[in-house]
Amino acid sequence: MASWKITALDTGSSLIDKSVITYLTDPGTKIRIPRVMWYLEGPRKIIVDTSVGDPAQGERVLGEPTARTPEQHPDAALKRAGIDPTAIDYVILSHLHWDHCGNNHLFPRAKFLVQYDELRYAIAPAPPFGKGYLAPTIGETPPYWGTRFDPIDGEIELEPGLRIIRCSGHSPGLQSVLVQTTDGIYCIASDAIMSYENAEKLIPPGFHWRIEESVESMQRILRSCDHYLPAHDYALFKEGTIARFP
Ligand SMILES: [Zn+2]
Repeated sequence: MASWKITALDTGSSLIDKSVITYLTDPGTKIRIPRVMWYLEGPRKIIVDTSVGDPAQGERVLGEPTARTPEQHPDAALKRAGIDPTAIDYVILSHLHWDHCGNNHLFPRAKFLVQYDELRYAIAPAPPFGKGYLAPTIGETPPYWGTRFDPIDGEIELEPGLRIIRCSGHSPGLQSVLVQTTDGIYCIASDAIMSYENAEKLIPPGFHWRIEESVESMQRILRSCDHYLPAHDYALFKEGTIARFP
C-alpha cells in the first residue's frame, strides 16, 4: 500500500468571531485562525486547497482581514517547505469558498479537482452565501476565476492510498481527503471540521449550507480515519508555520 506524507503550510491568519467556527458557541469572542495550504507527497505530488488570494478582497467584502508575514506568502511558504509548485500533479479544491482557492495560478501543470455541484453553486449561490464565494452574483470576481477545472462527481480513489470523499453540509459539494500514512489514515477535513472543538463536541461549523448534513459529515469523517486535520485550528501548528504529519 502506498503511503503519503502530509505538510500543512500556515499562509496567513485572520481574527474572527469564534461563533463562525463553532455554531452559536462563544459569540463575541475573537480568535485567530490559520489559512492553510496542504501538500501531499507520495507516488504523486498534490496540493489540497490554495488558501487566500488577495487578502484585501476578503477584508473589503467579508470584513475578515488576513495578516501575512513575508514568509507566509504562499510562494515563499512553498519554497521554505521545499515544494516546487511546477511539480504539482493535482490540486484538490475541497470547496470554493474564497479562502480555499485563491492561489491556483501558482500551479501551472496541475489538474484542478472540484465537485461539479460545488462549482455550479459557487457561481450563483443563495444570497446569504454570495460573500463567502466572492460570487459574480454580488459583483465580485471569484478567486478561482480563470482556473481550468476537471470537475468530478462523487467519490474517487485518486491514487493508491488517497481517497476523495464527499462531506457536504458546510457547502453543497465539500470534499475531504483520506490519506494513507505510516501512522494510519489521516483525513484532511477542510471546513467539514474547522477546529478540533467541532469534532470533539459535535458542534457544526458556524457557517453552513445545511446544518444536519454538516454534523453527519463530521461523524462520517470520525468513522473513516485514525486522525483528522481541521481546516482552521492553530493547534495544528505546534512549532512555526510548517507542520508535518505523521
Ligand atoms: Zn468554507
